[in-house]
Amino acid sequence: MGDYNTPAAIRAWWRPWMGYVLAMIGFSWATVGFFNVYFSWGLPRAVFNQHSEIFVIAIYGVPTILLIKDPYQKRRLAVLVTLVFTFWYLVPTLWPFEVDAFGSNRPWAATFPGFDVPGTWTNLGLFVAALLFGRRIKCGWMNTCVAIKETAGAPFRKHTKRGTDWFKLRRIKLLTGAIYLSYFAVLFMPDSAFTRAYFYWFWTIMITVYFGSLFLAPIFGARTWCRWLCPILFGWANVLGFYRLRVDKDRCTSCGKCEQVCDFGLPIRALAEKNPMIRTTECMGCGRCRTACGKDAISYYDVRDFVREKILGQDPAYKSRQPNLAAPMPVPHLDHSTIEEMEVVGGERGYSSGKSSLAAHQ
Ligand code: SF4
Ligand code: SF4
Repeated sequence: MGDYNTPAAIRAWWRPWMGYVLAMIGFSWATVGFFNVYFSWGLPRAVFNQHSEIFVIAIYGVPTILLIKDPYQKRRLAVLVTLVFTFWYLVPTLWPFEVDAFGSNRPWAATFPGFDVPGTWTNLGLFVAALLFGRRIKCGWMNTCVAIKETAGAPFRKHTKRGTDWFKLRRIKLLTGAIYLSYFAVLFMPDSAFTRAYFYWFWTIMITVYFGSLFLAPIFGARTWCRWLCPILFGWANVLGFYRLRVDKDRCTSCGKCEQVCDFGLPIRALAEKNPMIRTTECMGCGRCRTACGKDAISYYDVRDFVREKILGQDPAYKSRQPNLAAPMPVPHLDHSTIEEMEVVGGERGYSSGKSSLAAHQ
């Protein structure tokens, strides 16, 4: 039996719990803030307001960015937190103006940028961008719901449920997506008691489920909403547009490391077995699988690749523009015969081994 009372044992036990407790405090602050405004709870608005979620993202974001070791994730999270703070807090607070909407009904006065408000032109424009580059352009780099899960919710990443059965639950999004689409139909109806009741209940249910899903993180990981519930159409842009997650089956050794880091629990190997150009509503292009793959077998595919490959006829090998930042550089095994061979070839092509170049300088 080990001694559970040593300072090291107590720290090892408490450290993850400290992360969970802090995460729950952050989730609670964000939830109470939004509900305080939406349902007029009467709590002090200076602390609990519609921007509480953004404050949580900023406050938890800074230490998370500093602690992350992977340079790509560090950069992505820094951009994500900065853009969320700028577009969801600074601009609407310092320079508030409304974005225009289409449809005859304007149920929600959307303050710029209104990216998440269906019916605004900014929302539509971002959807078009997602058709070209995948939902990655929104969810990977500029999204409040991703930002709170990758900052305050980071301790729960390891609780993600993985495997094909959990993956099947994504079909719930067919239902929530259908409800979301109906919103667009109601936008074009004349204002009436029905449309007003529809919009009230739509937003009430949406924000209750969204904030409620945060508290399921200890059971399912931080992405319950993103994986199984999110009705927002950016996921469908992955399927309808150019975005793919491309798996090079010649390089893949089926080690499964990519699946272990995916917060969406994507069964990458099973999907790649069916089609190496993986198309799912889920993948948000975070890049963790690419970094984890020591074989450099995973890359993104979007409209730029379509143009290069299908229109300009380039070889997919140009993908070196997306270096696998955390993976070690491949070092060839050099034995005596390899060096000799390089010296022979180098003589013709203009490169040489260190030994021969040293000789050349003597
Ligand atoms: S980490 Fe790379 S090599 Fe391993 S299963 Fe995933 S794609 Fe294949
Ligand atoms: S499949 Fe890869 S890029 Fe897509 S969400 Fe999972 S880890 Fe991120």
